[in-house]
Amino acid sequence: MTLCRVDNSINWPIMPHMTYDTDILIVGGGLNGPTLALALAQAGFRSTVIDANARPKREADDFDGRAYALARASQKMLAALGIWDSVADQAQAISEIKASDGHAGRGAAPQFLHFQAAEMEEGPMGYMLEDRYLRRALIAAMEASDMITHLSDSTVVDQSTSGAAAEVTLADGRRLQARLLVGADGRTSGVAARAGIRRQGWDYGQTALVCAVAHELPHHGIAHQFFMPAGPLAILPLPGNRASIVWSEKTQRAAQIARGTDAEFLAALRPAFGDFLGEIELAGVRFSYPLKLTLAERFIGPRLALVGDAAHGVHPIAGQGLNLGLRDVGALAEVLHEARIRGEDITSELVLDRYQQWRRFDTTALALGMDTVNRLFSNDNPALRLIRDFGMGVVSATPALRRGFMRQAAGLAGDMPKLLQGERF
Ligand SMILES: Cc1cc2nc3c(=O)[nH]c(=O)nc-3n(C[C@H](O)[C@H](O)[C@H](O)COP(=O)(O)OP(=O)(O)OC[C@H]3O[C@@H](n4cnc5c(N)ncnc54)[C@H](O)[C@@H]3O)c2cc1C
Repeated sequence: MTLCRVDNSINWPIMPHMTYDTDILIVGGGLNGPTLALALAQAGFRSTVIDANARPKREADDFDGRAYALARASQKMLAALGIWDSVADQAQAISEIKASDGHAGRGAAPQFLHFQAAEMEEGPMGYMLEDRYLRRALIAAMEASDMITHLSDSTVVDQSTSGAAAEVTLADGRRLQARLLVGADGRTSGVAARAGIRRQGWDYGQTALVCAVAHELPHHGIAHQFFMPAGPLAILPLPGNRASIVWSEKTQRAAQIARGTDAEFLAALRPAFGDFLGEIELAGVRFSYPLKLTLAERFIGPRLALVGDAAHGVHPIAGQGLNLGLRDVGALAEVLHEARIRGEDITSELVLDRYQQWRRFDTTALALGMDTVNRLFSNDNPALRLIRDFGMGVVSATPALRRGFMRQAAGLAGDMPKLLQGERF
C-alpha cells in the first residue's frame, strides 16, 4: 500500500520543511475514526486511518450486533458528510419514546414517561441504524476519498508525540509520521495509555445482552425502555417488524443467559419483554457487552487528541455514546479548520485546548448523568422507586420540560459543532 506524501505548500507556522506521511494519523477505524477522517477531508486535511481488524471482518454482518439510536444532530452530521443517503433506507425514524418501570417476571408497568416527535417542529427525535450499515458506509466513503488513506489489518504498537512530528509504529515495523495523532481506538485506548493519560471509571457489574428480534405486530417507530431492577431493557424499532434489544442484566446472570440456547434466551427474555408486539423470535446473532464507565483524565496531549470511546465510554442507558463521540469529531474538525484559516499551528496547546474545553465538560456531565440514572433505576428500593416515579411523572406532565428533554436528547440544544447542525465546511 502506498502512503500519500502531503503537499506542504499550505502555510504551516512551524516545521514548514518537515515532510509528513499525512496531516493527521487516526488510530481506530471503528465509527468515530472514519467519521473524523471524512470531516477532516471536508475541512481540507489529509488523514490516515489505521485499524487492527481486517476489512472483510469489519464489514461482515455479524461483526457487531449493535444498532444505534442516532440523535437528530448526528443524522444531520452524517448528511453533511454525504453518508446519510447511503444508509437512509436502512434507518428507522423514532417517532415516540416510552419509558416504564418493570419487574422481572411481570413485564413492564404502565408507562410513566412518554415523548412524542409530534411535539417537536424538527420531526423525528432520531433514527435507529444497525452498526453493519453505518460501518460499511463509512468504510466505503473513506475508500472513495483521495484525502484519506485507510490501513486495515494494521495494529499500532508504539507512538511518539514529543518531537517535530507525531509518529506511530505498526506491528509489522512500518512507521508513519503526521502533524497530529488522534486516538479513536475505543474504551481501552492504547493511544491514551501510551501518552500517559490516565482513566477514571468503574465497572457497572452489568452486561448488555444485544440482539435483533422479529416480532408479529408493528412497532410504529416507538422506542421502549423498561427499567428492570437488574438493569434497563431497551426495545428499539428497526425497519420492518424488527427491534434491537439492549438488555442490561447483572453480569453473572447475563453470562448464564448468554450461554443458553436461542430457545432458552427467548424464554428468559419473554417475561421482561411482554407480549405487546405479539410473538417474538431471534433475527440474528446474539452479542454481550460488559458495561463500564471510563473517562480519560485529559482529551489532549502534545500533538495528540482523543475522540469517542477513547475519551469517554458511557452506560448505554440513553443510547448516547456514539452521539457524544460524533460531537467530539465535529468539534475537533471545526477547531482544526478554524485554526488553519487563522494561520495557527494546529498542534499548539492553545488550539487543542479549545477542543478539550468544548467537549470535556459536556461528556463528563453526561457520563455522570447516565451513571446516576442507571443507579437510580437499576434497583428495587421502594423509596427510590417512589422518587423516580414522581420525578418522571412531573416531566411527563409538563410539556415545556418534556420538550426540553426531547431537544436535548435529539442534540438540538447546546453548543453544537457546525457539522451537527447540518452545515458543511
Ligand atoms: C450495548 C451498547 C449499545 C449502544 N447503543 C448506542 C446507541 O444506541 N447510541 C449511541 O450513540 N451509542 C451507543 N453505544 C455506544 C457506541 O457503541 C460507542 O460509543 C461507539 O461504538 C464507539 O465508537 P469508537 O469508534 O469510538 O470506538 P470503537 O468502536 O471501540 O472503535 C475502536 C477501533 O479502534 C481499533 N483499535 C484499537 N486499538 C488499536 C490499535 N492499537 N491499532 C489499530 N487499531 C486499533 C479497533 O479495532 C476498533 O475498530 C452503545 C454501546 C453499547 C455497549
